[in-house]
Amino acid sequence: MSDPIKVITEPTVRLVGRQVIDEAELSAFLKDEDAETWTTDTDVSAEKIVEVSGRICYRSYSKPRPGGNAAYLNHILEVGHGSVIEHAVYNFIITGVSRSLTHEWVRHRAGWSYSQRSQRFIDEGDLSAVVPPALAAEVDEALSLTRQFGVSAHDLLQTARIPSAAAGAGRRWLASMEKARRDYSYLADYLASKTAGQPVSQEERTLRRKRAREAARSVLPNATATEIFVTANARALRTFIEQRGDEHADAEIRRVAFAMLGILQADSPNLFGDYVVTDRPGVGQVISTPYHKV
Ligand SMILES: Cc1cc2nc3c(=O)[nH]c(=O)nc-3n(C[C@H](O)[C@H](O)[C@H](O)COP(=O)(O)OP(=O)(O)OC[C@H]3O[C@@H](n4cnc5c(N)ncnc54)[C@H](O)[C@@H]3O)c2cc1C
Repeated sequence: MSDPIKVITEPTVRLVGRQVIDEAELSAFLKDEDAETWTTDTDVSAEKIVEVSGRICYRSYSKPRPGGNAAYLNHILEVGHGSVIEHAVYNFIITGVSRSLTHEWVRHRAGWSYSQRSQRFIDEGDLSAVVPPALAAEVDEALSLTRQFGVSAHDLLQTARIPSAAAGAGRRWLASMEKARRDYSYLADYLASKTAGQPVSQEERTLRRKRAREAARSVLPNATATEIFVTANARALRTFIEQRGDEHADAEIRRVAFAMLGILQADSPNLFGDYVVTDRPGVGQVISTPYHKV
């Protein structure tokens, strides 16, 4: 039996970079403004930078209202002064997500930057696949059968009686991934063999490999796992979390929105603390806020 398909059931979301402030330069600016006594009560650079940028609009460093940074940012959200929260930037690495998820993700344009694993440079012959949440139990059942009988999902029908409709559906999903992987490798090898043996430069060899992989990847499924580095500002992240934490969003991207919200609420509570997660009957958890699309 060929190596089993690696099935991924959960995304991994890592906040790998965040805002920093050059305190010396900020102090020099405040001194120029005769506002060197201004301080704020947050230790979170993202929250502080938003307050600094908001206060520049009205030169309000000298007369802060009570309530500190939390009250200040809450007011920004309340009045929808969204451009101010664009100054806080976060960097995430997300792994264990599907190409269908990233295709939806890159539709978010304003305030986002992306770097995604290339299917032209990287061989997908050891394809990992992200199982959609709705099929997770089925695939799990089928996977245990393949392990029990030591066969591929494709061969499972010949070897064992499939005990349930769920296992049958899972087997079909797995067999489809196995077939895609076989076809991908076959086509990549075939295309590489067409030009094998010809003396070429290293640069030309790389280009040919790219040409073979870019054509072979056309048979890869939406479920193919990928990795993406995303940078976004707080305003863009808020819009994403709202749109993708909603009941109408795709189940896989919803999971990522929930994971990001948890991370951001722990990291910058004054910028993301207004979101609440509630259970909606028949839907499951949804994310909502009184400050829609700031
Ligand atoms: C549940 C759901 C279902 C979806 N289904 C589909 C679908 O079937 N097909 C499909 O193609 N997409 C679909 N989408 C994607 C959707 O249409 C948006 O492309 C995506 O959600 C990004 O939203 P956005 O444009 O508001 O975000 P961003 O691109 O991040 O923009 C943020 C905001 O900036 C402003 N903005 C950005 N660009 C411009 C501009 N060029 N001109 C003026 N204002 C601008 C707008 O106010 C915008 O809301 C779906 C999204 C969701 C959440």
